[in-house]
This record gives sequence, structure tokens and C-alpha cells, in this order.
Amino acid sequence: MTQTLSDLSIDGMIAELHTLAKISEAEPPVVTRVVFSQADLRARAYVKGLCAEAGLAITEDPVGNTFARWEGSEPDLAPIGTGSHIDAIPNAGLYDGCVGVLGGLEAIRVLRRLGFTPRRSIELVIFTSEEPTRFGIGCLGSRMMAGVLTAEHARTLGDPEGRGLEELRSAAGFSGALESVALQHGRFEKFIELHIEQGPILEREGLDVGLVTHIAAPASMRILIEGEGGHAGACLMPGRKDALAAAAELILALEAAAKSTGAIDTVGTVGICDVFPGAVNSIPSRVRLETDIRDINAARRDSVIDKLLAACADVSSRRGVAIRTEMVNADPPAACDEGILSALEDSAKAASKTYRTLVSRAYHDSLFLARIAPVAMLFIPCRDGVSHRPDEYASPEWIGSGVHVLARTLAQLAG
Ligand SMILES: [Zn+2]
Repeated sequence: MTQTLSDLSIDGMIAELHTLAKISEAEPPVVTRVVFSQADLRARAYVKGLCAEAGLAITEDPVGNTFARWEGSEPDLAPIGTGSHIDAIPNAGLYDGCVGVLGGLEAIRVLRRLGFTPRRSIELVIFTSEEPTRFGIGCLGSRMMAGVLTAEHARTLGDPEGRGLEELRSAAGFSGALESVALQHGRFEKFIELHIEQGPILEREGLDVGLVTHIAAPASMRILIEGEGGHAGACLMPGRKDALAAAAELILALEAAAKSTGAIDTVGTVGICDVFPGAVNSIPSRVRLETDIRDINAARRDSVIDKLLAACADVSSRRGVAIRTEMVNADPPAACDEGILSALEDSAKAASKTYRTLVSRAYHDSLFLARIAPVAMLFIPCRDGVSHRPDEYASPEWIGSGVHVLARTLAQLAG
């Protein structure tokens, strides 16, 4: 197989990526493809057509997660899964997610062309709504597959225009009980997601691929501070209950807590600081902070949250302001599977591709699949680390390397 896989041409797949990119709610080169929009449905139809042409058997679940299966010689064995997403945030590029879907399909097609017969089936998965644009929650399809988001909760989701998930999925042609989206542990033997790095490391180091050992997960905490407003001139400094001054202490407390772990993978950010009433001559009486705290180690991340909560209690009593906190979400980080990582490493070596291990700081569908199957991710470089922008770019060589390593790994794992 060495000879032929090394001669792999992915020109056809690159052309497909560009065709898919044109199925957009915005003018090319901008890709906007929000879940269940006309563009999303046309893009699904296009990709399903390619899968059918490749001889794969297609099924869809009630929320639109799509499975394209290459039956193995022992079809009763749990399949090896690969795939990603094709939805795109407004004003995005054409590689995020799509490289993992079309690259996974290309890996399957290459193996078929080479006459390989897998023992285990290989299944390409296209996840519904990895991006949170429409329903305010990321990884909708994979969360439901993993049972992390229950059908009951999913039924309460809606978009900013007030249309519910139930209405939108049925308008998109997906029916059946949402309860059946959740999969059993063991439904997949293993799962691998090919993805652009969305960071600068691989390109900077001139490497072909990255083997992802951990996927960091964000915890988001909302902090609501209530002080006392008043005239900025008339209220003297003693006895003030300035909500923004309290917030400033908390912002610095989070920064200090994230640094205090000593681990480069701990990050803490206050991305939103909403001040009321927001007038130059008025003491801020209410502030809302939205925080994002991430790590690849759950205990370490939670230690930062604990320090932030302690700071809230301290600031509240010292400054006489009321502070309320709400945990918006706290998904656990995932460690990738050693077995898949060593298969990826073998494949990279056999393909003469340069590689290193790294962690994923963004979250992906694989973070949730990790709850029900061993997972790993395979990164390829992207120019300047840019993603979620129209100028996102991965070269055909980078994509070719990713597809090559993925194809070898699928072959090895499917046996
Ligand atoms: Zn993505």
C-alpha cells in the first residue's frame, strides 16, 4: 500500500472543498452556513451525494447527525469512526470542519481504490451544529450522541428568532424521537477527527501533522455584581459600593488564579464586562462578567474556579456589594486514546510525515464523543493559525498529509 498511498492525489477533494464553500449564505469567499439553513441543507445534500457515489450507506438520526458507512468484512464489529462538521459560523472560511468531513471521505475512497477491505466497518460522521450560532450551544449533535445533552433539554432550545429546535429540525426533514440520538458506549470502537489546528504551532515549526493528546474544555461562569449607583460628583469616596471597582478586582483575581497553577495550559479570561448604567458621571451599580476558564486537566481548572469563587466572597464582604455566580457550563476536558495516538504515530512515520504532539485548546465534537468512545484528533497546519475567518487557509500539501496519515490509521485500526 506504501507506494500507492504516497502517490495520493487530492486534487479532486480540494475541488470538492471549494464546491462546498460556494454553498453559503454569503458571497464567496465568505462561508456562512448556519445549521438547518437552506445553505446547510444544500451542503448536506452535496456531501451525502459524494458519499453515495463512493458506495457508502447513509443514515441520519433525528437531529440530523449523518453516518456514511463502509461495511467491513465483519459487520457485527463496532466500526471505526471519523468525521467532523460542515456548519460554519457567519463570516467563516472553508476549512474548519469540512477538512475532517471531506478528508475522511477521501481517506475512505483512497482505501477503496487501493482494494483494501476493512475487517471493521469504517463510518464517516457529519455532526449537526458544531457551532453554537443558532441554538447558543456548541456541539449540539455530538452532545446529544454522548447523552450529555438530553432530549428533554434539547426540546427547550430555540434560535434568536424564536424558532424551536423541534420546528427547525422537522422543517429540515428530520423526524423521530430525539431520545434515540444518544448512542451506547461501544457504538464506535474508536473515533478520529481530522481538523485544522486553528493555532500557529504546526506551521511555525514546519511540521506536517499534529497528534492531539488532550482536548481542553471551557468552563463558563457568569458573575453578577450589584452595588450602589449614584452621582459621580456628589457621592464621596468613603462608603461607595462601586460594582465596577469590585469587578476590576475579580478580573485581576481570575488572571492571578489562572497564572498560579504554573501550567501553560491553564487559561482564564473575562470576555464580557457589561456595566450599568454606563454613564460617565454615574457610579456603576450593576456589572455582569462572563468568564471562560480552560485547561486540559479538570481538577486544575476547577481549582481556578474555586479561587475565583473565594475572591467573589472576599470582594463581596470587603466592599459591601452583592455577588451572584452562575455556572453556565463546565464540560470536562478529554484525554485522547493512547492506542489511537500510537497508530497515528506509526502512520505518520510510515508516511514520512513530520509530527509532534499538542493539545487542542478549542473544543470539538471529539470532546463529546470521548464520553462514549476512545477518540483522538489529527491536526494539520493552517496559515498564521487563522480560523473562523474568510482568509482561513490550509494548503493542499497540508491537507494531503492529513488525509494520508488518516487513511493509514483507519486501515490499521479497522484491520
Ligand atoms: Zn471545527
